[in-house]
Amino acid sequence: MPAMATAMRRGARGACPSCGQGRLFSGWLRVSDTCSRCDAPLGQVRADDAPPYFTIFAVGHVVIPGMLWLEKAYKPELWVHTAIWVPLTLVLAIGLMRPVKGATIGLMLKLGFGRDAGNA
Ligand SMILES: [Zn+2]
Repeated sequence: MPAMATAMRRGARGACPSCGQGRLFSGWLRVSDTCSRCDAPLGQVRADDAPPYFTIFAVGHVVIPGMLWLEKAYKPELWVHTAIWVPLTLVLAIGLMRPVKGATIGLMLKLGFGRDAGNA
């Protein structure tokens, strides 16, 4: 396995965290069973709720301060808040989910998760 930052960066761009060549995902968020290039056991790593948690955490830290700043600075109507923050939240959450899941799997592979399949 490469360095932790490299593994996470490869995972974030959807590549195998181990070799950087094979595909990490076989669907939008479905992880391939094994890497097509290096046979890394990608499917044995179960990220479970970590990627959605990290995604919500990141999106919340962008949206909530922005919303509070806008309200304090301009006091816009409620529909203005809705028109800005609902789409932004959806775009950020959907856009970040896959890279965050890939980075999480890269981190977990580096930390040794998935080596003992079936025991987790
Ligand atoms: Zn690989």
